[in-house]
Amino acid sequence: MAVVEPLRVFFIPLMSPGHMIPMVDMAKLFSRHGASATIVTTPGNEPLVRPSVAGSSVDLLLLPFPPSAAELLPGGRENLTFMPKSDHARFFDAFFALRPSLEALLRARRPDCIVTDTMYAWTADAAAALGIPRLVFHGHGTFPQCVHESLHLRGTHKKKKSEEESFLVEGIPDRVELRKSEVSSIFQWEAALDFWKEAEEKSFGVVVNSFYALEPEYAELYRRKPGRRAWCVGPVSLANCKGSTSIRSRGGNNNHPEVERCLEWLDSVGTAGSVVYVCFGSLNEFEPEQLDEIASGLEESGYGFVWVVRNSGWAAEEGFEERVKGRGVIIRGWAPQTLILGHPAVGGFVTHCGWNSTLEGVAAGVPMVTWPVEYEQFVNEKLICQVLGVGVGVERGEAGAVVRKEAVAKAVAEAMGGGREGERRREMAREYAAMAAAAVEEGGSSYMDTAGLIQELLEFRAQAQSARP
Ligand code: UDP
Repeated sequence: MAVVEPLRVFFIPLMSPGHMIPMVDMAKLFSRHGASATIVTTPGNEPLVRPSVAGSSVDLLLLPFPPSAAELLPGGRENLTFMPKSDHARFFDAFFALRPSLEALLRARRPDCIVTDTMYAWTADAAAALGIPRLVFHGHGTFPQCVHESLHLRGTHKKKKSEEESFLVEGIPDRVELRKSEVSSIFQWEAALDFWKEAEEKSFGVVVNSFYALEPEYAELYRRKPGRRAWCVGPVSLANCKGSTSIRSRGGNNNHPEVERCLEWLDSVGTAGSVVYVCFGSLNEFEPEQLDEIASGLEESGYGFVWVVRNSGWAAEEGFEERVKGRGVIIRGWAPQTLILGHPAVGGFVTHCGWNSTLEGVAAGVPMVTWPVEYEQFVNEKLICQVLGVGVGVERGEAGAVVRKEAVAKAVAEAMGGGREGERRREMAREYAAMAAAAVEEGGSSYMDTAGLIQELLEFRAQAQSARP
C-alpha cells in the first residue's frame, strides 16, 4: 500500500494572544491527528510560540517584518499584548505590510492547506491562485457568529437611536436582546466586514474553536448557510494544553516567581471551589478607579481570589494587601489561566467574556461572573448567562459606567454561593465541562470533525494531484 504523505498545513495567526493561543493549540491538534503542522509568525513572536510547541512536532517558520513596516511597529513590538489601544492602528499598518512576503512564502512552500485568521482575508485570493485550500479562523464560536451575521445582514441595531435602547436579535433560535451600546465596535468597519465575508465565501471552510453540544442549534444554523462548511474542533485548550510550558503560561512577560507563589498558595487552600479567579483578558486595561472598586468588591465578597491586574501603574489602597493576606493573590501581568481555572481550589471565574476565556471557563466547569467590556464579549455574555445558564452578570449600569464594589461583591457571592439557584448553575457548569471533555476524546464530536476535515483535505490534495498534467 502506498504511504500517504502527511497533510502539510500552515497556520497563520494574528499576533494577539486571543488569536495566537487557540491557533497554536489547533496546530498541535492537527499534528496529533497526523498532519504536518507549521506556525508562521514573526521573529518577535518566537519567544512566545517556541516554548508552546516544544515537545510537539509542530514547526515554526519565522517571517521578519520588511524594514519599512518594522519602523511602524510601536516600540518595535510585534504582538498586541500589553499594547496601548492608541498604538493599535500603527501595529495594523505594519501587519498589513507583511502581505508580499507571506504571499512569496506560500508560492515557494506550497502547503496543502492554510489556516488563517479572518483578518488575513487577502490570503483567500492568494491561496485560490495557488490552488491551496484556505480555512478561516474567526476565533469565535457559532453563537456570536450567528448573532453578528444577523446584525450585519439586517442592520437591526442601526435603527435604534439611543445607545441604551435594546432590540431583539432576529433570526436566531433564542430570544436574545442587546443594547445598541453592546454591539461590537467591529460593526463600524462595514467595508472590512464585507471583505472578510467575501473572503470566507472563497475559502474551503471555517474551523471553529467550539464543540457541538455547547451550541448545537447555532452550529446547525451556522452550517445551514448555502456554500458554507464549518468544522467545530474545540475546545482546543483541552485537546492540547495541559502543560505549563506554553504561551498560555508565559504570555508577554516573565513574572514566574509571582505565578509560582500563586499556584503554591492555591495548593494550600483547603476548601475546594472556594477561590474566584478574576481576569479580563489579554488586552483590556481598567482605569484606577475601576480597579479600586474591584479590590473593595473582592474584599467585601469574603471569598478567596486570584486577580490578574494588567495596569502596572496601579497600587491598591493602603492596607488592602495586608487585609486580604492569605485570602487573595494579585498577579501583575500574565497568569497561567487554564492552570488556575483547572485548579480544584477555584470555583468561579470573573471574566470579560472573550471567546477563549468563555470556552476555558466552560471547560473548567466553573460558574462565571460576566463582565463584558468590548467587541463580541456582550454577545458571549448572553450565551453564558441566558443560553447555557452558567453565569451571573455583574450589574453594570450604563455603558462605560464604573462598576461599583457592591455589584462586584454581589455577583461573586451569587456565583460562588447563591443557594439553590447557585447549585443549579454549578451543576450545569459541571455538565458542560463533561461534554467539552467528551467532545475532544477519541470518537467525540470535535475529534471526529478534526479527523473528517483532515481526511477531506487529503482527498482534495489527491484529486488536485491526479488532475495535474
Ligand atoms: N490569558 C492568559 N493569561 C492572562 C490573560 C489571558 O493565559 O493573564 C489567555 C486566556 O487563557 C485566553 C487568552 O489569553 O486563552 C485571551 O483570550 P480571550 O479571547 O479570552 O480574550 P482577549 O484577550 O482576546 O480579549
